[in-house]
Amino acid sequence: MKTEDLIDMGNASLFNTYNRGEKLFVSGKGVHIKNNDGETYLDFVSGIATNILGHANETIVAAITDQAGKLMHTSNVFWNQPSIELSHKLVNYSGAGNLSKVFFSNSGAEANEGALKLARKYGKEVHGDDCTKVISLVDSFHGRTMATLSATGQTDMHQDFQPLLPGSVYVRLNDSGALKAAVDDQTCAVLFETIQGEGGINSLSGEFVETLKTLQKDKGILLIIDEVQTGMGRTGTLFSFEQFGFEPDIVTLAKGLGAGYPLGAFMATETVAGHFKPGDHGTTLGGNPLATAVGNAVFDEIFETDLLANVAERSQQLVEGLEKISEEAGGIAEIKGFGLLIGVAFTDKVQAADVLAACYEEKMLVVSAKHNVIRLLPPLNVTEAEIDEALEKFGAAVKKIVK
Ligand SMILES: *Cc1c(COP(=O)(O)O)cnc(C)c1O
Repeated sequence: MKTEDLIDMGNASLFNTYNRGEKLFVSGKGVHIKNNDGETYLDFVSGIATNILGHANETIVAAITDQAGKLMHTSNVFWNQPSIELSHKLVNYSGAGNLSKVFFSNSGAEANEGALKLARKYGKEVHGDDCTKVISLVDSFHGRTMATLSATGQTDMHQDFQPLLPGSVYVRLNDSGALKAAVDDQTCAVLFETIQGEGGINSLSGEFVETLKTLQKDKGILLIIDEVQTGMGRTGTLFSFEQFGFEPDIVTLAKGLGAGYPLGAFMATETVAGHFKPGDHGTTLGGNPLATAVGNAVFDEIFETDLLANVAERSQQLVEGLEKISEEAGGIAEIKGFGLLIGVAFTDKVQAADVLAACYEEKMLVVSAKHNVIRLLPPLNVTEAEIDEALEKFGAAVKKIVK
């Protein structure tokens, strides 16, 4: 069917909630993706930091095919082997610290939703009935359900959906004074990303990290780290919090965990997880045998192919190349991020949206974030030659826009 006819059909029958333009893809291999008209693009969106092993990865295809032929879904009324195995891998990973229990969900929002419920129950049982306040950060993103939207520190997203969850409080990123001032005896948790993905690739400062750790230690405030975008190796370690020296009480995952298959999780320490009893939380599809079989394959692939080392090497190559583009073309204010979660912030005279469009003309897919930032999110197994290809295309796009 012709692309424009398909898009007409889509516009007729799908909710109008995304600005997709004319982009419709039908197949992919590794970091390359093909549209309905047979044109190939270099995919540095990766389903928004999700396809960490690229498209049509053979290990993932085999895991899906094998498990789908055996047992896809049984509900959580019964045990299933792939979910038991994946939970063991996650908690026994050396960098997981005290996180020792896992709950599987289908998405990032559901992972955060569960984490928020757990924090509230913990707050009530440990500190008293009123202890339900959750602090989050301005420009954060935690999901689209009512609780996670309430925790998302972006007022433009709130407007039409008030009233939000009571006890949702926001402080500015890296404003330690504001954070300390916001904490009172009704505060049960702080929910945050170590590096804000949607918010424009903004990282926690060393001082802010210390303030968070002090609140955790001295006041018993739970630290919930949203690793939905940063987790599963994206920043060069399996969890980004390892690089910030946190010992989180709760951590949430999704995106890279299923590498494109819907799978999320929240992990918690023994003490915190113990506050959930049978009946407190649940899901029908979350952690089903098919999703967690994929999760096992993804986890194994990360370590068997030494993916974290590749992230470090390709990150350095990418950042060095971007710095060169910045010197040659100008228009770039800052290159930021960790590992393969890289943001290119443009100066006021350049619109990131124009760079995005110019990249598309160069047959390269990128995605924007807040504050005039373009995000570069290749799969974690991207090769040296593919980074070179990206730098060539991105450089050409920037030079076209910055005059
Ligand atoms: C994508 C994202 C979410 C939401 O995940 P969904 O799977 O879209 O529900 C939550 N937090 C962060 C940091 C994200 O990047």
